[in-house]
Amino acid sequence: MKKDFAVIGLGRFGGSICRELAEQGLEVMAIDTNEARVNEFSIIASHAVVGDTTDESVVKGLGLRNFDHVIVAIGDDIQASILTTLILKENGVDKVTVKAQNDYHEKVLKKIGADVVVHPERDMGRRIAHKLASNNVLDYLELSDEHSIVEIVANERVGGHSIIDLDIRAKYGVNIVAIKRREQILVSPQANEIIQYKDILIVIGADHDINRFEKKML
Ligand code: ADP
Repeated sequence: MKKDFAVIGLGRFGGSICRELAEQGLEVMAIDTNEARVNEFSIIASHAVVGDTTDESVVKGLGLRNFDHVIVAIGDDIQASILTTLILKENGVDKVTVKAQNDYHEKVLKKIGADVVVHPERDMGRRIAHKLASNNVLDYLELSDEHSIVEIVANERVGGHSIIDLDIRAKYGVNIVAIKRREQILVSPQANEIIQYKDILIVIGADHDINRFEKKML
């Protein structure tokens, strides 16, 4: 039987992944070269092991190929992160998710077969920048390089108008997928729904269209 997850590297990122998975009741093996960090996770993870995963015999010995999903959260040591990823893929691990430090790192990881590459600092930075850049934007989720979902607060200009009145889809090419109104959430609102001042509009579309919508309407 396949085991759930293994996390390699127990820094802030890997540690937090490990904690969340364990909290959700999932089996997780925690691995790090640093004994103190491993000890810290011995009561959190199902197994916590000291090991250097750039050594193929360690990867084999831990039976990492039997895991459904291995997360490589090695921080600054890009060489160790790349070598670990390569060994995991060569040993037949199905799904390997790796944290990238920069764009070059990401490119190499993709080339050697990493299944998912995450870039938490860059993504969080972008998310925060979007919130900072506009008073109306509450949250932002990047769907691709060019598409996002954004939470925008409705101002007086849109408040009191229906979606069809504002002609949002035709004029701006964006769609309101949901409206949060106090405790209520209206999913897929009808075109005749009247937007209220301070409603939170959840808008999906191309980034440049969302920007146009924000600038013109809000
Ligand atoms: P973060 O930015 O997420 O806090 P850190 O650089 O603090 O990342 O943590 C990365 C962790 O990865 C460290 O605990 C380090 O000991 C561990 N690590 C580094 N190289 C290896 C390796 N070859 N095998 C296993 N763990 C490693």
